[in-house]
Amino acid sequence: MYSFRTISVMPEMPERISRLTELARNLWFSWRPRSQQLFSKIDRVLWEEVNHNPVKFLLHVDKGKLEKAADDPNYLYMYDLMMGYLDEYMKKETWYQKKFPDQANQLIAYFSAEFGVHESNPVYSGGLGLLAGDHCKSASDLGLPFVGVGILYKQGYFYQRINREGWQEAHYSFMDFNEMTVTPASKNGGDVIVTVPLPGRDLFVKVWELQVGRITIYFLDADLAQNRMEDRLLTSTLYGGDQATRISQEIILGIGGVKALRELGISPTAWHINEGHASFSIVERIRELVEKEIPFAVASEAVRSCTIFTTHTPVPAGHDVFSPEMIDQYLSYFYDKLHVSRDVFMGMGWDDRRQGFNMTKLAMNHSVFTNGVSKLHGEVTKKMFAYQYTGIPMEEIPIYYVTNGVHTETWADREMKQLFEKYIGMNWMENISNQEQWQRVYDISDEELWQVHMLLKERMIQFVQHNLCRRMERNFEPIELIRENAGYLSKDVLTIGFARRFATYKRANLLLRNKDRLARLLNNPERPVQIIFSGKAHPADRPGQEIIKQLLDLAEEERFRGKIVFVENYDINVSRHLLQGVDVWLNTPRRPLEASGTSGQKAAVSGIINCSIMDGWWPEAYNGENGFAIGSELEYDNEEIQDREDANSLFDLLEQTIVPYYYRRVNGIPREWVRRMKNSLATIPWRFSTERMVKEYTQRFYLPAAMKGRRYMAQEYKVAQQMQEHKRYMQENWHHVHFQSIRVDQPKTLKVGQNIFIQADVCLGSIKPQDVIVEVVYGKVGDKALVDVMLMPMNLKEPVGQDLYRYETNLVLLQGTSGYTLRVRPYSPNFEYPFELPLIKWGDNMSFST
Ligand SMILES: *Cc1c(COP(=O)(O)O)cnc(C)c1O
Repeated sequence: MYSFRTISVMPEMPERISRLTELARNLWFSWRPRSQQLFSKIDRVLWEEVNHNPVKFLLHVDKGKLEKAADDPNYLYMYDLMMGYLDEYMKKETWYQKKFPDQANQLIAYFSAEFGVHESNPVYSGGLGLLAGDHCKSASDLGLPFVGVGILYKQGYFYQRINREGWQEAHYSFMDFNEMTVTPASKNGGDVIVTVPLPGRDLFVKVWELQVGRITIYFLDADLAQNRMEDRLLTSTLYGGDQATRISQEIILGIGGVKALRELGISPTAWHINEGHASFSIVERIRELVEKEIPFAVASEAVRSCTIFTTHTPVPAGHDVFSPEMIDQYLSYFYDKLHVSRDVFMGMGWDDRRQGFNMTKLAMNHSVFTNGVSKLHGEVTKKMFAYQYTGIPMEEIPIYYVTNGVHTETWADREMKQLFEKYIGMNWMENISNQEQWQRVYDISDEELWQVHMLLKERMIQFVQHNLCRRMERNFEPIELIRENAGYLSKDVLTIGFARRFATYKRANLLLRNKDRLARLLNNPERPVQIIFSGKAHPADRPGQEIIKQLLDLAEEERFRGKIVFVENYDINVSRHLLQGVDVWLNTPRRPLEASGTSGQKAAVSGIINCSIMDGWWPEAYNGENGFAIGSELEYDNEEIQDREDANSLFDLLEQTIVPYYYRRVNGIPREWVRRMKNSLATIPWRFSTERMVKEYTQRFYLPAAMKGRRYMAQEYKVAQQMQEHKRYMQENWHHVHFQSIRVDQPKTLKVGQNIFIQADVCLGSIKPQDVIVEVVYGKVGDKALVDVMLMPMNLKEPVGQDLYRYETNLVLLQGTSGYTLRVRPYSPNFEYPFELPLIKWGDNMSFST
C-alpha cells in the first residue's frame, strides 16, 4: 500500500451559470427542492445516479449539457430566481438578530456523533442524526450564532441490500470527500489539522466544513497519511467496531472537536452536547483552563456554567460506559494535566451500578441544563436519575424536556408548500411556530388537499416500485415476478407506512403476531389495505435483522404478495418519499422506550395521519381528532402481555375505525379522513417543528448558559471560584441543618380565607441565613404525595440562640383538604433553578406543636 493524493477536476462551468458550484456546496438546497431542479433539469438520470449529490453531479456532468442549459432562457429564468432566493436567505434579517440584538457576540457549539442533513452526506444512522441535521437547519433559519461539530465517516453508515433469501446485507463503500458537499477547512491557505493523543501516539485529524445555509458544521477526519494504517480507520464507520474504536471516536469528537474549534479561532460561549458521545469535550475544556492555572474545581464549575446536555435514550444500556482500565489506558495523561488523582477523575463520570465511567453521567455532572426530548421522556429520565436527588420531589428534579421537532421545509414537498403558500400565506415559513396561521389549513378545500395527497401518493408508489424492481433485477428474480411487481401497490388502496431503524423495541413485527387476522385485513375485497416497510438493522443487531427476514418471508407468501412490500436502504431520500405519500404512518414502540420519535412529525407536514402507541412525542400531540392512538397509557411489567395487548388494540383500531373511515366516500372523497388530515396539519407542524424547538433551546438554555458562563469567567473566574467554594461549603456543612421546633396556631375549624400562623426554629449550624430558603410546601392531598404543590417562603425573624433562627409565616388555605409541611433548601442568586445544589431538609420528622 502506498499513499497518494487525489484531486478532482470540475468541468469548465459556463460563466452564466457558474454559481451552481456555490449552490452545490450550500446545503440550503436540501430544503429547497426547486433549487435542486437546477441540477436535475440538466441531467435527470445522472442526478438520480449520484443520489442527489450536486458536487458529484457537477464533476460528472457532460459539458455540452451545461452549455445547453446556459443557453436555455427557461433554465436561466429558474437559475436567476433560485440564486436570488439564496442571496435573500443569506442576507435577510433573522429572528435572533431582531430578538437579541445585544447578544450578537454569543456563539453556540453543538456537538453530535451524527448529522443527517441530506442523503448526499450519509454520516447519520437514524433519528439522532436527523434531529441534529434539522436542528442545524433551523439554527440557520433563525440566524443563531452557531457551529456544529461532528465526525466525517469515510464509509458513512452502511448501504443496505436485501438478498434473495430476504436477509439484509450491509455494504460499505469508501466516500471520496472531494466528491462530497464538504470542503476542507482552511487557515492561512492551508488545511486545518489538529492532534489528539491516543495511547502511545498522536492522532492527526483533519477538519472539513459543511455549509448549511448560514451556519457551518465542522467534521473531523482521521484518514490521513500521517496516521498509522489502523488509525486511519478510526473515523471509518458510524457505530462500528469494538469498545476501543468507540472510545477513540468519542475522544476524536470530544477532545478533537474542541481543539479543532480553537485552531480555527472559534470561541463558543455555550456548548451543547447532543447525547453522551461528545462528553469528553468537557474534560478537554477543563484541561484548557487548568493549563491557565485555574484550579480544577473552579475550572469544572466554569465549564459547567455554560454547558447544555441532551439525553436521547431511556434505555440504560444505550448510555456508553467505559471500564476504568480503558480510562486508564486512554486518558490517564489527564490525571497529571488536571492535577487530580485517578479517583477524582473517575468520579467525574463514575457509575456505581455499572462500575464504569459513564458518558451520560460525565455530561450531566458538568452541565447546567440537562434535558430529555419529550415530556414523557423527561419524566422517565428523572426517574432514571432520581437517586442523585435524594429527598427532592420528582417534579422539582432539575431535568427538563424540550420536545423534538422537524425542519418543516425539509419535509414538505413542493406541492404541499404551494398549498401552504396559497392558504397560509407566501411567508408561512418565516414563522412556522405561529399556531394561528395554521388555522388557515381549514380553508383548503377537501378536493384540493385530496388531489395533492393522491399526487404525492402516486409519486411514492412509483418510487417504491422502482426500488423493488432494482432489487429483484439485482437478485436475478424471475422476469415474470419482476413484471408482476409493476402491478403491486395501488393508489386506491389504504396504504400504511412503517419505516425506521429496525431496533427490536420499535416492533416492526407487531402485526405479525396474528397473520391470519392480518391477511383478512389486507385482503378485504371492498376495503383492501397495503403496507410498506423500510428500515435498516444495525449490522451487529441479529434480532433486528431477523425481523427484516420475517417481513420479507411474509411478503413472499401468496396471500401477502404485493400487499406487503419492503423498500431497501432506508435513508433520507426513501424516508421523504414514504412520509409524503402513504395514508397512515404507523409507530409501534414498546412504551416508554421511544424517547421522542420524529418521523411521525414529518408525516404530519404532509397531512399524513399518525397511528401511534402513546409514547415519545405522541401523547403531547394527540387530541383525539388529529390521528389515532393505539392502546392506552398503561405501564406494563411484562413485555409479552404488552405486545399482545398492543397488537390487539392495533388490529381493533384498524378494523373498526381506520379502514372504515378511509373508505367512507362522498363524491369520491373520504370527507372524515380529510378532516383528520386538516386537524393534523393545524395542530402538529407548528408545534413539532425545529423552529419552535431551537427557539426553546435558545431562550431557555443557550442564552442563560452563555450569560452565566460570561459571568462566571469574568474577573479571572471570580464568580466560578465563589460558587465552587460556596457549594463545597454548603455540602460539607449541610448536615447541621435541621428543624428545632415547629409551632402552628390553628383555629379548631377553618373557614376559607382564614390564616394559620406557622413558626419554625431552624438550626443552620455555620451556614448563614441568606444562603437558605425556609418554606412552607402545601397542596391538595393526593394518593402518595401532595399535588398542585405551592411554595411559600417564610420570613426570617430574630435569632433565638446559637446558630438557631426563627422563621414565621401566615398561611392562607384553599377550600378542601390540604396538606402542608416545611423544608429548607440552599439558595444563591447565582442558581439557575432551585436545586442546582441538590440538598434539602424536611420538617416532616418534627412533631408539630399547636
Ligand atoms: C426521521 C428519520 C428517522 C427517525 O425516525 P423515528 O420515527 O424517530 O424512528 C430515522 N431515519 C431517517 C432516514 C429519518 O428520516
